[in-house]
Amino acid sequence: MTKVLSRPGNKSQFTQLQGWSWYCPYHDTMGSGDTEQEVLFMAGAHLYYFEDVTSDDCDVIIKNHNKK
Ligand SMILES: [Zn+2]
Repeated sequence: MTKVLSRPGNKSQFTQLQGWSWYCPYHDTMGSGDTEQEVLFMAGAHLYYFEDVTSDDCDVIIKNHNKK
């Protein structure tokens, strides 16, 4: 059983994936954020890191999860 603790004001913050996410199929790595800018920044950091450290050339997929 998984228990999630959250403050009363933070309804649904942990219950489902909302906002934006990035995913790299090459490294099977993903992250999420509230805004497209935040996710693009994180994805950019991922690309930069692996290019710098391993010279891996990977692609990142950006997704918006707000639509139903
Ligand atoms: Zn990658």
